[in-house]
Amino acid sequence: MARATREDYEEVVRAGLAAFERWRMEPAPRRGEVVRQIGEELRKHKLDLGTLVSLENGKILTEGLGEVQEMIDMADFAVGQSRQLCGLVMQSERSRHRMFEQWHPLGTVGVISAFNFPVAVWAWNAFLAAACGDVVLWKPASPTPLCALAVTRIVDRVLAENGWRGVLNLVVGSGAEVGDPMADDPRIPLVSLTGSTAVGRKAAGRIAARFGRSIMELGGNNGIIVLDDADRELALRAVLFGAVGTAGQRCTSTRRLFLQRGIAREFTDRLAAAYGRIVVGDPLDPATLCGPLVDRDAVDTFAAAVERIRGDGGEILVGGRVLDRPGFFVEPTVVRAPLGFPFSFEETFAPILYVFEVDSLDQALRHHNEVPQGLSSSIFTDSVRASERFLSAEGSDCGIANVNIGTSGAEIGGAFGGEKETGGGREAGSDCWKAYMRRQTCTVNFSPDLPLAQGVKFEI
Ligand code: NAD
Repeated sequence: MARATREDYEEVVRAGLAAFERWRMEPAPRRGEVVRQIGEELRKHKLDLGTLVSLENGKILTEGLGEVQEMIDMADFAVGQSRQLCGLVMQSERSRHRMFEQWHPLGTVGVISAFNFPVAVWAWNAFLAAACGDVVLWKPASPTPLCALAVTRIVDRVLAENGWRGVLNLVVGSGAEVGDPMADDPRIPLVSLTGSTAVGRKAAGRIAARFGRSIMELGGNNGIIVLDDADRELALRAVLFGAVGTAGQRCTSTRRLFLQRGIAREFTDRLAAAYGRIVVGDPLDPATLCGPLVDRDAVDTFAAAVERIRGDGGEILVGGRVLDRPGFFVEPTVVRAPLGFPFSFEETFAPILYVFEVDSLDQALRHHNEVPQGLSSSIFTDSVRASERFLSAEGSDCGIANVNIGTSGAEIGGAFGGEKETGGGREAGSDCWKAYMRRQTCTVNFSPDLPLAQGVKFEI
């Protein structure tokens, strides 16, 4: 496939900047109306786009369709948000003065997305940014350019019909060819990057060096704690979806399972039996629960991880093999490991689940929080005390903390993102729109005097 050259990049950035000159002065609800029309078109093409996501990325069809639904939900959300870009009015200490804040668009927002959510994460950023009056430059991940091209064709048609071409733009190219220039480009005041911690660390440094803003959505290493009093049926289903769904290639995939000693053996046996019933295969076949990994590199990473786990003394309870058939298929894998197992501190982007036994919630929390990542976390318990403790300041240290729900499958209404090496970014719902705008504090004097703040006198 042809990739963008440096000249192509320049052309697209300039087209975006030209569109921004007008788009920023379009009333926000009218910007929202354009986003609404895009959402309607995505609804019409949901099946085609969802199938393409499955074909190109390998996730099973229900997840491919879910990803397109997430774009549609995000469009609806952004339409409402376009009427609620609200600032505060503060009380001035000076007589006959009015002080308030307002929000203005930033300019061009760069969106660098990961292969595992080839369209949804773009929509989280792009629809809010567009409603906020920004223009967007999207660099999709190298393994999934077709999804980005298909979405952009649909979006472009709506933009052209409304006279707004140039608001949402696409540049297909590698990290070095397009990602680095975006990180360094002062014409892009905000870069939202979804990807591995290693890539994010480098890009964040480059963006910060020019005082650009960034939203970093990086690697996760998500844990579920199951206490003795948990509803085990619920917990089992959540662990299965979290660890095996999307072939373990979600940032929120469950990678670590902390089982309280009273239920550990029985739960592990049931988990192993359930793994035995998982069909690995064609993502478009409704019987399949686990599709392929994204590419050969991902398979090699899985194989190397299994070898390292064995070498470090981890016990492979289920799976562990690369499947000998065309495509990038591996066996969903369960590993029994001692608490603090060094390799479990790293994110391996594959369906590998570590199972640990713990004596207490205290011990579970300590080990749960000891990894460098801080994205998603869950506890399964029927105890109010335990669940509230998990959600308290001395509980989970993650950006997402769930009770009796697994680690993956977030709704768009909340702010999505994580702490520590996950990067600290937040996207989608709640008040995430603020990241796409600049805040301006304004004070208006309607008195005949010029009083200074803090009572300072400066008179001639
Ligand atoms: P990746 O880090 O390989 O690539 C991510 C994106 O960064 C791609 O578009 C890539 O081309 C680009 N890139 C590469 N080098 C770059 C550079 N020098 N400058 C700028 N951009 C560059 O990640 P991936 O394999 O596509 O995705 C998997 C990773 O993404 C996992 O670590 C996963 O946890 C993470 N992820 C995080 C979230 C989240 O919300 N926290 C969501 C999805 C995926």
